[in-house]
Amino acid sequence: MTQKTVIVTGAARGIGLATTKQFLAEGRRVAMIDRDAEALMAEAAQLQDVLPVVCDVSRPDQVESMMAQVATAFGRIDALINNAGVADFGPIEETTFERWRSVMSTNLDGVFLCSQAAIPHLKRVQGAIVNIASISGLRASTLRVAYGTSKAAVVHLTQQQAAELGEYGIRANCVAPGPVRTKLAMAVHSPEIIAAYHDAIPLNRYGSEDEIASVIVFLCSGNASYVTGQTIASDGGFQSTGVGLP
Ligand code: NAD
Repeated sequence: MTQKTVIVTGAARGIGLATTKQFLAEGRRVAMIDRDAEALMAEAAQLQDVLPVVCDVSRPDQVESMMAQVATAFGRIDALINNAGVADFGPIEETTFERWRSVMSTNLDGVFLCSQAAIPHLKRVQGAIVNIASISGLRASTLRVAYGTSKAAVVHLTQQQAAELGEYGIRANCVAPGPVRTKLAMAVHSPEIIAAYHDAIPLNRYGSEDEIASVIVFLCSGNASYVTGQTIASDGGFQSTGVGLP
């Protein structure tokens, strides 16, 4: 089997679904991973060259069996996109430990677990990892203690992966999206936050799922063969300003 493959977590909707479609257009086979079985199967049924696997990325046992299933079906794993994520808005004094753990378990543990399980396969093909952080992981705000901290840790974990895995030819990079009108964002973005983002972002608008996906696909391509350990903000220029997060 020479066709390149990729695993995309959180593939049932939003940025993960857009990324899946762009990789398919590039001729890759895609393992679509999500814990929302109904949405995953509905989307996968409309696509060709995909392998949908229901898996909660925060669960070590499920990640292990998902990776074994993908490796058996595809024969090779060329790239891993750690995209599955959950949002949570709240300052430190109002964030319960349960909420904190819930965010960390998907946004951070999930990246750790999927990466660890994929590394033996990526080593065979000098593969690539792309982790999805957020501008919330690059700059603190007054109401994202769990989400922002989880995403800042993903930025560091990416650097760690690049440092450790470079000797195997594995590249690890990170994309930090600005706001995109997905279900995740719209559940926590009030009209005031939306207006504030429009003002704060030099391009004066939200991004699209495809504008994030194309950066992810680039980082997995030969065009990025000397790029590793980097975090690219795809954010309409927000990170280049000194303006605080809304
Ligand atoms: P989304 O809610 O539309 O999609 C996320 C998908 O991940 C869903 O299908 C969900 O079922 C899945 N998922 C969540 N937890 C999971 C778990 N434990 N195991 C398996 N699947 C799980 O969200 P999105 O906006 O497309 O977000 C994708 C990524 O982009 C996330 O990591 C998010 O933090 C990041 N991000 C999004 C924005 C934004 O504005 N939308 C901004 C910055 C970063």
